[in-house]
Order: sequence, then C-alpha cells, then structure tokens
Amino acid sequence: MSNGIIIYRGPSILDGSPIVVIATGLGSGSSNRKTGALVQTWILREDVSPIEAIQNGADVSICGACPHRGRIEGGRNVGRSCYVNVGQAPLNVWRTYHRVPLANGKPRAGYPEARPDELSAMFAGRLVRLGSYGDPAAVPVWVWQSVMAQAAGGTGYTHQWKDASPDLAKW
Ligand code: SF4
Repeated sequence: MSNGIIIYRGPSILDGSPIVVIATGLGSGSSNRKTGALVQTWILREDVSPIEAIQNGADVSICGACPHRGRIEGGRNVGRSCYVNVGQAPLNVWRTYHRVPLANGKPRAGYPEARPDELSAMFAGRLVRLGSYGDPAAVPVWVWQSVMAQAAGGTGYTHQWKDASPDLAKW
C-alpha cells in the first residue's frame, strides 16, 4: 500500500480506545493525482488487527453502533453485513502501519505521520472518501475539517448521527 500517510493517531471519539487513520492514494505528482482517483481513508484500531477486532468486538471503537457490524456470539462474529472486506485493504494497511514483515520476510515500510497543519495542503484539490473502512464519527472532527478545507470533494457515511458532530453532515 503505497502513498499512505497517518492523518490521526489518538483516542476514538466513540469510546476513547486507541485508533489510527491512514490515508492512501495521495501520491502527489503521481497518476493518482492526474486521474483524480479518490483518496481512501482507513479508520482502524491502532492496537488490534482489523480481523481480530471484528471477532472480539473491538471494532466498536471505529464502527460504533453500526448495525452492519454483526454481533459476538460464543467468541465469534455472526450476522456481519458490512460491505468492506476487512481481510484485504484494512488488514494490509494495518500490517503496513505496524511494519509486519511480508511472507518473504521483508519488512513493510510503515507510514509517515502528517502534522495537523500539513493536512489541508496535502488534500488540496482531491476527492476524499471519509471512512473507506470505519465510521468518520470515530475521528475528531478537526481532522476532517483540515482534510476537507481545500479538497475538491468528499464522500462518507456515518451510522452515528445521534452522537456525531453536526459538522460531519457537510460531507
Ligand atoms: S465499516 Fe462502515 S458499514 Fe462497515 S461495520 Fe463499520 S461503520 Fe458499519
């Protein structure tokens, strides 16, 4: 997963557990920018792999009360209807973040961390998906405000309308 950057690392707004948000597809000067591809943002438990998190319920920190999470019965998830295949991009991004070695033993590169005051310029002119995995309401709204300040547009969905900042509705 190239061109990734950490845009937030800190407590979840939903339950205070550690989360991390990584944007991929930024690729300044790359074909991504020319084709106007969506920048993806992955909202993950920092300390629990996304696969484990859906099996033990730790994904509540990033997905809140979303009905698509399914429920935990007998130590495993049943009834999950989320459209995101967590074993693909979310797991790959989480492993890259933690520099988990590849199958051939080579380390993954990890991601650099953006300063909050860099975010607006980084996303300028881009189309951004807020929460390619995870609910944007889990992330402090200042992160999205910075990301969207100069962006061309954004798309996202939250299931936490009752609890989410009204500022999220703009995107
Ligand atoms: S990724 Fe989105 S749709 Fe899927 S369980 Fe989380 S909040 Fe719900």
